[in-house]
Amino acid sequence: MQLNHNISLQKYNTFGIEAFAENFAIIETSDDITTLSELTRQYEQWHVLGGGSNILLTDNLNGLTIYNQLKGITIIEENDTTVLVKAFAGEKWNDLVQFCLQHNFAGVENLSLIPGSVGAAPIQNIGAYGVELKNVLETVEAYRLDEHKTEIFSNKDCNFGYRDSVFKQSFKNRIIIVAIKLRLSKIPKLVIGYGTLQQQLEKTGISKPTIQQVAEAVNIIRTSKLPDPAKIGNAGSFFKNPTISKFRLHVLSEQYADIPGFTLNEMNFKISAAWLIEQSGWKGKREGNVGCNPLQPLVIVNYGGATGKEVYDFSEKIVQSVKQKFGIELEREVNIW
Ligand code: FAD
Ligand code: NAP
Repeated sequence: MQLNHNISLQKYNTFGIEAFAENFAIIETSDDITTLSELTRQYEQWHVLGGGSNILLTDNLNGLTIYNQLKGITIIEENDTTVLVKAFAGEKWNDLVQFCLQHNFAGVENLSLIPGSVGAAPIQNIGAYGVELKNVLETVEAYRLDEHKTEIFSNKDCNFGYRDSVFKQSFKNRIIIVAIKLRLSKIPKLVIGYGTLQQQLEKTGISKPTIQQVAEAVNIIRTSKLPDPAKIGNAGSFFKNPTISKFRLHVLSEQYADIPGFTLNEMNFKISAAWLIEQSGWKGKREGNVGCNPLQPLVIVNYGGATGKEVYDFSEKIVQSVKQKFGIELEREVNIW
């Protein structure tokens, strides 16, 4: 295991924020986990870092920062209809998607091009275009940093919710995900109901798409709408879509007839946070080095040289503005460190 000190984290987070890790351990083999077990006893604070695409660094990181680079993707078992694939946490999520597409394993095609690592995917139950990780996840293998032992979490144990899991709640900063297993299908059940995805497929004249064509359509939409973190610092959607009651939506729609609400269950609706932000006047707005993306206002961008505090303060102004106009409090999706 490599242990380095006072490491700049600028290239380890997609916001491109400058901050330093006091102690930076790189985990590359399963033996490193054993060494890690001894090392974690020396520090009171731990941060597990993947691709850094869902964090905002507002300060230097004290204690131990663990950079997970465990690699490997393998087929564990296979039958006529399904396959079980194991992937280690340090693999890139999109490399796992590519592996599945190459083998014709269906289930993750809508999650194409999501940045970050395999190990972070269960943390917020990554999701896009009507599919979430929970739809295919079988187990999570994690190492308990607090109890120095390996634990297997079933899908149910993960307590997945909308951009949420047990790892973001009671196990926050207490575990390191080592590997995950996904149950994928050899008989695709496509999820292509999202308006933008449907339109993109129609545009290309495809009526019965393959999983590869679905992934390609997703890639086209994503690259046309989302800023590339390699060019402009960002962490994707900064806020979650809020949930409001049927009654509240009814009241709001009397004033805002076009408010986009999606049914969650009989009593609750999901509201587009992007719409709320745009209506509050933030779309495309820039203050110093920080701004609200002109194409997708859910994304806050670092135009260069912004500090984490500047980004956070900008996000707070959006929260207050939306609250004042709609009485809805936006919740941050990005992990604030
Ligand atoms: P990091 O940012 O490194 O970490 C995020 C959290 O996971 C932290 O709390 C960290 O401690 C924890 N973590 C990371 N690895 C481990 C591990 N091995 N064990 C334990 N904890 C760990 N998200 C979506 O859900 N859907 C999208 O469509 C989507 N699109 C995006 C588009 C862009 C352009 C960007 C920049 C981001 C997008 N995201 C999206 C957010 C992000 O890509 C995901 O949340 C991703 O899973 C984060 O992975 P990461 O490895 O970068 O995690
Ligand atoms: P979009 O298609 O313009 O839709 C706007 C919002 O409406 C989305 O947030 C989506 O919710 C919701 N929505 C649209 N159609 C829906 C339907 N048929 N049923 C239920 N909800 C619907 O969104 P976008 O910004 O271009 O993003 C496309 C997808 O990629 C979304 O699923 C989004 O979550 C995901 N994405 C996530 C991130 C991130 O960082 N987390 C970044 C970029 C894109 P949901 O968000 O709940 O799906």
